[in-house]
Amino acid sequence: AEPILTISGLNVDYGTGPTGVHALRDVDLTLHRGEVLGLAGESGSGKSTLAYAVTRLLSPPGVITGGDVHYHRPGAGPVDILSLSPDALRAFRWQELSIVFQGAMNSLNPVHTVHSQLTDVLKAHRPAMRSAERTARAEELLTLVGISRDRLTAYPHQLSGGMRQRVMIAMALALEPEIVIMDEPTTALDVVMQRQILRQLVRLREQLSFSVVFITHDISLLIEFSDRIAIMYGGRIVEQAGASEIYRDPRHPYSEGLLHSFPALHGPRRELTGIPGTPPHLSAMPAGCAFHPRCGKAHDPCADQIPVLARPEAGQDREVACWLHTRPA
Ligand code: SF4
Ligand code: MG
Repeated sequence: AEPILTISGLNVDYGTGPTGVHALRDVDLTLHRGEVLGLAGESGSGKSTLAYAVTRLLSPPGVITGGDVHYHRPGAGPVDILSLSPDALRAFRWQELSIVFQGAMNSLNPVHTVHSQLTDVLKAHRPAMRSAERTARAEELLTLVGISRDRLTAYPHQLSGGMRQRVMIAMALALEPEIVIMDEPTTALDVVMQRQILRQLVRLREQLSFSVVFITHDISLLIEFSDRIAIMYGGRIVEQAGASEIYRDPRHPYSEGLLHSFPALHGPRRELTGIPGTPPHLSAMPAGCAFHPRCGKAHDPCADQIPVLARPEAGQDREVACWLHTRPA
């Protein structure tokens, strides 16, 4: 499939000067039309930072210090997202790409009904639409995410957490974007809900043909629902491949550790016992391969040379950043 979003060489820092730290380094990633791309990694690996950076929602001290992000509008030339004007960016965010952030279900306005929140999005971006049309569209959107249309008059507190999350998805789909980015609900209790939501997104994707980026630390969810998976560690992508390739044959020791941290696709959840130690702080990123202090396979170049993402087999859509798979220059 053709690319719809291409990220290349993306760098993000938090702060500048001597106290500045690297949050994202050399991120290259392509989202293809119609695919579900999963982004996995422990918290602090840069997953959310990446979502904020590509949508230009990064707030200070976060700053993009290098790289490119291009959106490939169907039937038109590429759009350089990093140089869009504020107005163009606002339109882009709802109409071409929409995001459902971590904890988004709590960002519904408590004093407004579902109806008014859904129709507000339409009012702002489709000023020519008549009131009756907006209501009809709001009903249609609710039905789409599996909520009965009589909940249109409900206030957020009258809905379960899962329903509120689905209302957020309905809002995100209101203007028929080409891309939906969904950042995880963080708590362990939310895994069942994440699974429901992901299943629903995949179904809607088939119906409406948009592309999805789903961000979670739970790689087992991604194996079940995504087409491709990119795994992040220390602000870099360390492996990316098809979901079934990652599942059958993870190449990066960190990918392997993440997979072993989850006993079975449908088993109970555990902590990341597959990997000793904890992820590094941005301010104390280990030299060389950032994973080396935790890696059972660390060897000679690992502690001082950063492995770059490369294809271990020519012609295959798999990339790994590990000295086990590429040789130092
Ligand atoms: Fe382990 Fe070295 Fe590979 Fe890093 S580069 S994951 S330390 S083997
Ligand atoms: Mg996060």
